[in-house]
Amino acid sequence: MAKVLMNKKDKFLIKDTSKDFHTKYGFFKKNDLRKKTGKVISNTKKEFTVFDPYFIDLYKKIKRDAQIIPLKDIGLIAAETGINNNSKVVDAGSGSGALCCFLANIVEEVVTYEIREDFIEIVKKNIDYLGLKNIEIKHKSIYEGVDEKNIDLVTFDLPEPWRAVDVAKKALKVGGFLVSYSPTIPQSMDFIKKIEHNENFVHVKTSEIIEREWEIDDRKVRPRSQQIGHSGFISFARRI
Ligand code: SAH
Repeated sequence: MAKVLMNKKDKFLIKDTSKDFHTKYGFFKKNDLRKKTGKVISNTKKEFTVFDPYFIDLYKKIKRDAQIIPLKDIGLIAAETGINNNSKVVDAGSGSGALCCFLANIVEEVVTYEIREDFIEIVKKNIDYLGLKNIEIKHKSIYEGVDEKNIDLVTFDLPEPWRAVDVAKKALKVGGFLVSYSPTIPQSMDFIKKIEHNENFVHVKTSEIIEREWEIDDRKVRPRSQQIGHSGFISFARRI
């Protein structure tokens, strides 16, 4: 049973409440950590409110190995496709599972394809840790095809996404979305060229999301000095 401790200055996610938790403010006893949502606990130094973690509290602590898709970019994918709890998704490659796990929390089911066994192990751990029951991992190259049909959204985070456009065509419902995420523009260009030459797809748009977080501390109000740098370009296509 995980818990969150939060106060104005700090936040901790405690994954294991069967033992005491040590922080820079001293330690908190396990019996306190297990208190109900909303209880305030304290040691000699600080007070914290305890609550049951939301999905996002757990999600921010998943294991990462491959370069994950950051939240700002996942936000655009969810918004532009309008996915909901009836949607079916195919995703490749899984990487650390950041995208597929976030999507699984929104949609009905996700099937994710990955070629590397070491990444599959990480994704399995993340799925288990997040308690997700609607993701299936397939150890197979997406370039060789998928078994799924009538899919609402296909997501690619692949070195050569243009090689899987025909696979996405077979899997997608008419009207469904193909979203490809690439860190470089030459990859996006080759993907879009392939989409434009395919009579079953329309290129809707390609975007980059630049998020600037601000520090707001009395009159010290300015963009935070350390921002996320470049992540990737997101191309949206529709199946016709
Ligand atoms: N979107 C993921 C990160 C993906 S990194 C996340 O948010 O965590 C890209 C992954 O694609 C790597 O793990 C790589 O092994 C995998 N990959 C590369 N070629 C592939 C292929 N043909 N089929 C399936 N996965 C592939």
